[in-house]
Amino acid sequence: MPCAQLIRMVPVAVIGSGYVGLVAAACLAELGHEVVCVDVDQERIKLLQSGGVPIFEEGLDALLARHRGQRLRFTCNLAEAVRHARVIFIAVGTPQSPTGEADLSQVESAVISMCPALDSYKVLVEKSTVPVLTSQWIARTLRLNGALEKNFDVVSNPEFLREGSAITDFLYPDRIVVGADTERSRQLLRELYQPLIDGSYYRRADRVDGPADLSGGVYYIETSTNSAELIKQASNAFLSLKVSFINAVSNLCERVNTDVEEVARGIGADRRIGSRFLRAGIGYGGSCFPKDIRAFGKVAEAVGYNFDLLKCIEQINEDQQTGFLKKLRTALWSLKDKRIAILGLAFKHGTDDIRESPAITIVRKILAEGSRVSIFDPAAMQNCRTMLPEGVRIQYARDEYDAVKGAHALVILTEWPQFSNLDLARLHLLMSYPIVIDGRNLYSPAKMSAAGFYYYSVGRPFSEPLSEKYAFALDHTQSQHSLDEKMALP
Ligand code: NAD
Repeated sequence: MPCAQLIRMVPVAVIGSGYVGLVAAACLAELGHEVVCVDVDQERIKLLQSGGVPIFEEGLDALLARHRGQRLRFTCNLAEAVRHARVIFIAVGTPQSPTGEADLSQVESAVISMCPALDSYKVLVEKSTVPVLTSQWIARTLRLNGALEKNFDVVSNPEFLREGSAITDFLYPDRIVVGADTERSRQLLRELYQPLIDGSYYRRADRVDGPADLSGGVYYIETSTNSAELIKQASNAFLSLKVSFINAVSNLCERVNTDVEEVARGIGADRRIGSRFLRAGIGYGGSCFPKDIRAFGKVAEAVGYNFDLLKCIEQINEDQQTGFLKKLRTALWSLKDKRIAILGLAFKHGTDDIRESPAITIVRKILAEGSRVSIFDPAAMQNCRTMLPEGVRIQYARDEYDAVKGAHALVILTEWPQFSNLDLARLHLLMSYPIVIDGRNLYSPAKMSAAGFYYYSVGRPFSEPLSEKYAFALDHTQSQHSLDEKMALP
């Protein structure tokens, strides 16, 4: 008998149908709950109602198709959704304000709108990433707008999903953190997550397949609301720290002519450290780390603690992009009137999200130095067209090979798996100069050298073509003067 029938169904409202809200809504329906997902964006809701999916996320279309019209509905009517629910997830945006704090106006607006519909006991869950003490502000706003104390509790249940593997991250999490200050709200959240807590979901024949056997149940952590809010911000800060740390080490590796991939393997094998988030590259980006680390710094500042480490993490991240551009300049001498092929716009593979993508920053800087770009990304090009409109200097390509035609250099900015399996001989034939600047270390310097490329990557030795045919002097370690003398570009 399917275990879903033994689950106590909890009526849920999810406010916000973005990357987090939509995934949470689909996954909660998958666990057996009845979910109404709300958004203020009417176009988005219409699209969702008619079977469309507004974002690119592996497995999301299938999960929505499974539950849409049955346990999962979409609406713009927030009051109706809240009345139906016992648990209300707030999954609206918390972008960065001009001064660096989290802008909580979407949260406030959603909270005020739901007040008239709080007609019986309901739990409001912060799913959005918010600074510590936000739950107290939410409770105060509810009271100020007429909600009765007996009708609500505010709980923090931070989301740790990664775009690109969001569905399996939600259903097969490393841990679920619930910060609640009353037993009645803790109890309701346990009911909601019961199929994951007792592992019954993982024994279902129709479960979404995941990366781990969690049939013994997930690690479920109950804390105070303040702790849960801090856990989320501190986790993101720590992950950013790992990225910046290995990027700093990669700069040392370049100076002593060694390979950061080897060094990272050695560091990460220590279980106290772990190998994840130890990949050198062009720095972290996306809709979370950059804003969350700044907001965390602002929280520290507000409570009188000087958390300078956070500033260092950010500085290393910025420097990493500057250093990467320098490699391109070293390889090409001047960027003026060059044709550069760009592979990757999304801030990481597996998503169409370009918010705070380091790839976009780098493309803009390349354009500012007078180059033309020909871009390909398998998922994120549509999202970029307003920000980087197609024209004489910006072209969107059909595929990787279309992008590199006639290019003076290929710049790899996102680690899409398909970019690590390019036909190097074909690439070589299509490009004007055989120069590759790889911001994601997708190839080995030896392989690129054998394939006839000048290959620059991050934290690893520069490599030249083995073949004499292309061996014009392009030694990045030499002074500009000797470079000028030796370089004889075809
Ligand atoms: P998003 O911008 O993709 O989605 C937010 C949605 O909320 C939008 O569709 C918007 O129209 C809607 N919205 C705004 N105000 C509303 C209101 N008053 N009523 C109803 N809908 C409203 O954002 P996201 O990436 O899903 O992130 C949401 C939150 O989750 C943020 O706090 C973010 O930091 C956090 N988070 C994001 C990720 C991620 O990978 N994207 C991971 C963990 C946590």
